[in-house]
Amino acid sequence: MEIVQKVKEGKPLGKKALKALVSDFLAGKLSREQMTVFLRAVCAYGLSDEDAIALTEVMVESGERLSFSPRKYPYADKHSTGGVADSTTLIIAPIVAVAGIPFLKMSGRKLGHTGGTIDKLECFEGLKTELSIAEAEKVVDSVGAVVIAQTKELVPADKALYKLRDETDTVKSLPLIASSVVSKKLASGAEVLVLDVKVGNGAFMKNLEEGRKLARLMVKILQDAGRKAAAVLSDMNSPLGEGIGGVMEVIDAIEVLEGKKGRLRDLALLLASKILSLAKNQDEKQAYTQAQEILDGGKAFTKLQEMVAAQGGSLALFDKQNRKTILSCKAGIVFAKKDGYIGKIDCIKLGNLAREFEQSGGYGLLSSKKVGDSVKAGEPLVTLYHPNGTAPQETKSALATCFTITSEPTLPFPTVYDCVC
Ligand code: URA
Repeated sequence: MEIVQKVKEGKPLGKKALKALVSDFLAGKLSREQMTVFLRAVCAYGLSDEDAIALTEVMVESGERLSFSPRKYPYADKHSTGGVADSTTLIIAPIVAVAGIPFLKMSGRKLGHTGGTIDKLECFEGLKTELSIAEAEKVVDSVGAVVIAQTKELVPADKALYKLRDETDTVKSLPLIASSVVSKKLASGAEVLVLDVKVGNGAFMKNLEEGRKLARLMVKILQDAGRKAAAVLSDMNSPLGEGIGGVMEVIDAIEVLEGKKGRLRDLALLLASKILSLAKNQDEKQAYTQAQEILDGGKAFTKLQEMVAAQGGSLALFDKQNRKTILSCKAGIVFAKKDGYIGKIDCIKLGNLAREFEQSGGYGLLSSKKVGDSVKAGEPLVTLYHPNGTAPQETKSALATCFTITSEPTLPFPTVYDCVC
């Protein structure tokens, strides 16, 4: 194929050729094998920024594009490239809504080792995420924020391409990731976008340089399309928060909304303040202070309750008494075997084990240990929670191998490495 040769030679492809490629694939005129050859070439040789932008446009044009009635402030959204123990959306959405900025997020389910935002939301009894756009706009009218499941009509090209990339081990390419993520965000209509690009062993991007390149490319594509955008590079060498698995992540977010400190709060506040600053053209410090006041004054927690109710759900399962009951269902504890420091946490393995445990009916895991923390022999590394109070020995043994304890002190990773705007 001529287009593959051009990729190999680093020659411009152009939107017309990319459009033909994608449409032929969707129409079944280009085989999976031929498309795989193209994807492999992109993984090996990359794409110019111009072609990454063109590919994103082609993907957006493959489906429905949403637009909303004008409001005082532009519609905002956030996206994370995927992290373990990351329930920031449950904190950010209400903060942004209290600040008067309409927030509409389309999200996915079970994304590999991390789980999706929809999985967390579905932990609220009765909450509906399969809303039409008109219904979602009504929720924004009444409470200011809504999170819904992605519709089938949005970027069908990404659905088909992502499936093939997943099956052919061609996910990991900066322009392919950028066009996949950004096309969905552009099609879903938000005018302000803040991206959380995770960096570390639990993320797509293993090092800061790769993360920075992805963040810059995504911000560039969004800005080229006329959107206000910024990216934060955050750490994924340790789970972000303490709860891992839907129920435990919801509890974690609620505790932050009630005043708990730590990395989950710090990152959520930063991302929320970036949205405020872009949407209102507000000074970053002022925006941070406003986000902090909304969180600390309890308004964000009240707003989350309104959001859940507006989507037909209830927080009853997570009231203080029920949370106490869940946290009393200890199914096992994985203890540190020696004194030392947490040198490494295998976040992918930890996330996958948490998902498996959830599938067996477990609530999930709690782990407050981060890389760099000191530990004493016999101290808990992870606690498992299950309604029946038991957990398989293999799960506990496998969890123990996720933590490497060193005798020499290890430097902690910062929560946030950098911002790109
Ligand atoms: N998430 C996406 O939506 N697309 C990718 O390519 C990778 C992560």
